[in-house]
Amino acid sequence: MEKRFRVFATCDIGEAIDLLRTRGYEVEVYPHPEAPPKSVILDRVRSGVDGLITTLRDQIDAEVFEAGKGKLKVVAQIAVGFDNINRADANRYKVPFTHTADVLTEATAEFAFFMLGALARKMWAAERLTRENQWGFWHPYLPFLGDEVTGKTVAVIGTGRIGLAFIKKCVGFDMNVLCYDPAYQNHAFVKTIDEIQELRHARGLVKEKPWIKYVPLQEALRNADFVSVHVPLLREGESQTPTYHLFNEETLGWMKSTANLINTSRGPVVDEAALARALRENWIAGAALDVYEKEPLPLSSPLRDPTIADRCRLMPHFASAARITRLSTDPDKGMAGRCAQGLIDVLEESYGGDVTKMPYVVNKEAFAR
Ligand code: NAD
Repeated sequence: MEKRFRVFATCDIGEAIDLLRTRGYEVEVYPHPEAPPKSVILDRVRSGVDGLITTLRDQIDAEVFEAGKGKLKVVAQIAVGFDNINRADANRYKVPFTHTADVLTEATAEFAFFMLGALARKMWAAERLTRENQWGFWHPYLPFLGDEVTGKTVAVIGTGRIGLAFIKKCVGFDMNVLCYDPAYQNHAFVKTIDEIQELRHARGLVKEKPWIKYVPLQEALRNADFVSVHVPLLREGESQTPTYHLFNEETLGWMKSTANLINTSRGPVVDEAALARALRENWIAGAALDVYEKEPLPLSSPLRDPTIADRCRLMPHFASAARITRLSTDPDKGMAGRCAQGLIDVLEESYGGDVTKMPYVVNKEAFAR
């Protein structure tokens, strides 16, 4: 079969690679589980590939686009976040890049909710007790207690796709919701949730009707028992509302001393030194993190401090790591399928070759006529 396009994938994305191969694509997959060094990406791009499949571990910037000048037609990222791709550089070189929004929304939201529950009810410490044979007696409050989630107040920072899906999970636990999002406020969604809570109350499913409202950041943080973060990483200059170190000594200081922080967004949204201090000095009760300023989490990280281990849960960037979500070749179900389809759309000029009409392309602004 004629090799129509050459593609380099910086990691294996499963059967979606076979799908491309059966279409006649020549696909080279970086054979190791770790991210390739930048020099390998540059080398492959220089060799004239038409498309790159990337993960959030790869820095895709002017150097890469320059290496692919005249040949590289698309970068297909297997993630919704794309802070590793320099959008201004992609636009300057007129290379469309795609992402895999939506198909990971529910998986990420439910994982954030499970992290919240595991943290609040001290599930890790409780299981360890049993496993290490330290469970010597049943006692009303020893060796420790957790905190209930049901009926508590959660602040949702960023009410985009995942933030709203997370709120849906919280509704089942009768939680009050404080929403904060300076750039996008979905009042129709809030009204729907309110109507559902009204009905659940009217039918006797809950004693007190839970509430939901948009509030400023300070009000959200001052009043929440749980704070869950669902923003993209936006550095200074990339947005009117940057999120880099949105959680710092000042904003962590606004949280209640009994409150917990859950971050499944991007590591640099939280100043980790400030968070470690907040946990050490009991400004807040706990934190559950899936993402870090540097990944994998370095051995020297202050978050590994054993004195805060009982209240700091550390996950390995795992929120979207569910079988169908990660690997389904169906673009409506899996990140791998959506990633491959994004690549195909650009290379095979779907939608009449109009990049602005391709659903998975992010930087459409560079192609507006
Ligand atoms: P989205 O674009 O639909 O939603 C992000 C929301 O954040 C938007 O509504 C935006 O207005 C809001 N926002 C922007 N700046 C803000 C600020 N300063 N304060 C508060 N809100 C702000 O994106 P999404 O699909 O919901 O994904 C959100 C992020 O979650 C991704 O960008 C990615 O970094 C992260 N993510 C992580 C995992 C994981 O495995 N841990 C998985 C999926 C997504």
